[in-house]
Amino acid sequence: MTAWMANGGEAGFVILVAVIVGIVALMISSSQRKSFEATLRRTAQRLGGSVVEGGLFSEPGLSLPLDGRSARVEFFSGSKNSSPYSKVIVSADGASPGVLHILEEGFGQAFLKLFGAQDLEIGDPAFDREYVIKATPAALATRLFSLDRRLEGIRIVRRIRSYSNGTFDLDAQAVTVMVRQYLREESDLMTLITCAKDFAAFALGAKGSVEVRSGEIVLGEVRVATGGECPVCGTAMTAGTVRCELCRTPHHSECWQYMGRCSTYACAGKRSVA
Ligand SMILES: [Zn+2]
Ligand SMILES: [Zn+2]
Repeated sequence: MTAWMANGGEAGFVILVAVIVGIVALMISSSQRKSFEATLRRTAQRLGGSVVEGGLFSEPGLSLPLDGRSARVEFFSGSKNSSPYSKVIVSADGASPGVLHILEEGFGQAFLKLFGAQDLEIGDPAFDREYVIKATPAALATRLFSLDRRLEGIRIVRRIRSYSNGTFDLDAQAVTVMVRQYLREESDLMTLITCAKDFAAFALGAKGSVEVRSGEIVLGEVRVATGGECPVCGTAMTAGTVRCELCRTPHHSECWQYMGRCSTYACAGKRSVA
């Protein structure tokens, strides 16, 4: 009898401790979320944008104008199968000159299979060693990084070098600048956002001056996702494609995995179906 009571008391104590630990964990995670939301609000205010409320399964983000283009900032805290990310997506507004990807060499090697073995050179030996560059059409890489613009482009890309696996992606619809970590600090957010703004201007031309830029970037050669081509990499889709659950746009399954979401700018699709 006394032994049973002792066991019962012990079990009760264990349950009590578990409940307290659970409550404290909930309080910490909710206060972390509150402070992150406050950071987002300050950043939105600073840039004339607004906070996009998170849902039960989605994290809060930002919607903001960048040099007259609409942009979104999205976060993912990571899961068992996917790395965390922070990304800025800037709408190309019809000004995209093609498909371009810039990945750090170590990270890019893991994705070499993904976009084919293509690794273009822009003519700066150090930069070409440090980064994997892919483009459709291939000449787009050398045109964007032509001699008079090269240093500016390199300076923008290197600005997020200290973050985890930064990448620059240009497709038919948008410019995406992404790092594989969950940025929490306002200064880090500003670094990523400013970098995306500058890269969008670099890749798409200044807003409203597309005519001026079109002399440098021959738009006639461009052929992007007009049918049968993956919107992420710009190459033909044969086997291994998935569709966005929401807008049904087909992607290579690896390209979907790389972007972590649907590549259609206006689509919120984060899940794919076969
Ligand atoms: Zn693809
Ligand atoms: Zn979609």
